[in-house]
Amino acid sequence: MAKKIKQIAIYGKGGIGKSTTTSNISAALSKQGYKVLQFGCDPKSDSTNTLRGGDYIPTVLDTLREKNSVKAQDVLFRGFNGIYCVEAGGPAPGVGCAGRGIITAVQLFKQQRVFEELDLDYVIYDVLGDVVCGGFAVPIREGIAEHVFTVSSSDFMSVYASNNLFKGIQKYSKSGGALLGGIIANSINSPYAKDIVDDFARVTNTKIMEYVPRSITVTQSELHGKTTIENAPNSEQAKIYNRLATKINEHVESRTPSPLGVQELRDWASQWADKLLDLEKGALLTQTVGNL
Ligand code: ADP
Ligand code: MG
Repeated sequence: MAKKIKQIAIYGKGGIGKSTTTSNISAALSKQGYKVLQFGCDPKSDSTNTLRGGDYIPTVLDTLREKNSVKAQDVLFRGFNGIYCVEAGGPAPGVGCAGRGIITAVQLFKQQRVFEELDLDYVIYDVLGDVVCGGFAVPIREGIAEHVFTVSSSDFMSVYASNNLFKGIQKYSKSGGALLGGIIANSINSPYAKDIVDDFARVTNTKIMEYVPRSITVTQSELHGKTTIENAPNSEQAKIYNRLATKINEHVESRTPSPLGVQELRDWASQWADKLLDLEKGALLTQTVGNL
């Protein structure tokens, strides 16, 4: 029997750390001996850069525009430790739908049965999650990915994007769509940031997979065009990415989240605004008392 390929999708707001986190997960899983393909589904097309020494690779849509017909091999590149890299690409600026790259690229790989041929253990989709339009929902909607994870910080816009994603997952869960594995909490450097994402996970019926701090090691590695796993394998940050990859590898059971309604999310946010004000007052008081 052919082995089962574990397909996971990582969503989140633009700039939140999806590609950084995804590439480190891919690198860590690859180092653990798994055959991995990272599928960039962001029109920005830079998902796989740190697996490729900082290079951009030709995207599926760009190649299609040039050639009319594309073989998967034309858009498949190797990166760190042999990881397969694909970028779906985006429309020409000002024209067309951003999700089309994903639809086209996914269909191409499906039709040509590439994942099976490559004998992969993992396909990891790195998907822009600001909007979960038809195109961006493809990995969820058609049950292509089995487990979805969201990268989120404690910032409201990031939580908002994750909550929207949860709505998409909930909608498609009734027709065989992918389910939610959990939240990868990124840039968590203060106790209150952890409290906020913890609380968001609690109210939406999901869990935190890992808390990833904002770290200069990640910045340095990116400036070298590398993942942290490659550039600083013995660092504290690499340990965190390794632990996250192991948890994802062991993860089997995903579930339907309970997204907040529009008003519920607003109420949740204002309640946190009050709590933060209290925290700030408390901190100021401690400071003042300390100065006396
Ligand atoms: P996205 O793919 O969600 O658009 P990126 O992964 O490209 O976001 O990250 C955006 C920027 O934030 C990059 O410069 C990246 O190096 C930085 N970044 C992301 N996560 C971290 C982190 N944990 N520590 C330091 N920098 C980070
Ligand atoms: Mg990205």
